[in-house]
Amino acid sequence: MANFKKKILPLKLFSCVMKHLLVIVLWGLLSCCTPGNGSLLSAQDYDFGCHLHYLASDSLQGRLAGSRYDSLAAVYIRSTLLHCGYAPLCENGWQQFEYNAIKRSTNKQGTRFSRNVVMVRTPYDTSASAESIVLGAHFDHLGLGGWSSYRSDTVAVHNGADDNASGVAMLLELAKKITQYPAPLKRNVVIVAFGAEELGLLGSNYFVKNLPPHTGKIVLMINFDMVGRLDTLRRLEIGGLKSFAGADSLLHAIPNPDSLTFFFPPKVKENSDHAPFYAAGIPILFFHTGLHADYHTPDDDIDKINIPGMHAIAHFADSLIRWAVTTEEPPVFQQTGFARKSQ
Ligand SMILES: [Zn+2]
Repeated sequence: MANFKKKILPLKLFSCVMKHLLVIVLWGLLSCCTPGNGSLLSAQDYDFGCHLHYLASDSLQGRLAGSRYDSLAAVYIRSTLLHCGYAPLCENGWQQFEYNAIKRSTNKQGTRFSRNVVMVRTPYDTSASAESIVLGAHFDHLGLGGWSSYRSDTVAVHNGADDNASGVAMLLELAKKITQYPAPLKRNVVIVAFGAEELGLLGSNYFVKNLPPHTGKIVLMINFDMVGRLDTLRRLEIGGLKSFAGADSLLHAIPNPDSLTFFFPPKVKENSDHAPFYAAGIPILFFHTGLHADYHTPDDDIDKINIPGMHAIAHFADSLIRWAVTTEEPPVFQQTGFARKSQ
């Protein structure tokens, strides 16, 4: 069965790339000949498979932060957003940062570089009073393993289909959906794909401390990390319920046509890229379908991703985002503190 996967993957990748090219060409044609914001495409549902097949393929070698494969993933994310009509919010859409890490080939400590991809929906408000929401997901993973793998004695591609190709696929497809919202919106939509999350939330920490000009006041950050394993009970964890006033009633009022079963942790966990935002006094929500036996192992593969489950999550997230960009009164931050590690 392993050989089957190796043989079939290039074919899938090829058809995925061709499909992507076709969509880009069609998108260009439609945007040339339709007024407004591409409403002819509104009948399209989400296409998670294409992003997952590329990001979680062996060809990206587990997207280790600082590697050329990490850069390939970043290029893919940026070009997908560009083709959806997003613009770079900082220089060319890249926000490079440096950090110290041990280089695997030499086993020596040295300076490494990774980057965030930072894009904004156009048109956007550049005034001093501009507000924004940030949607984020990290794109790096563990490469061939290493200290944070649960099979640290094994050298094998850790594809990270759930962690976090699923979150990036969700981010890109929601970003595409947002281009169809009727303009004008009350606040900017900033899309950030974070680098080096697996090394300790490096990209998101850097972003929060080095906000690009025209980011505006961030009134809500929504993070997607591991959203590809919705189980048979349809359990979706949403963190940050107490990070702003009224979140509880809001999340219960949003339509839930796909019968998701929500779990709201009582306190914010420091386990993903929403944490630096929350520490900086920004309301957050964190979407997550939970840990599993394949977490941080080479078995976190695309064949275990629940694509219909991702559709269900996207339907709910889309309603939430529509509320966030249209509500008169933005969320007001509440400080309740981080959860202890055991919570
Ligand atoms: Zn991880």
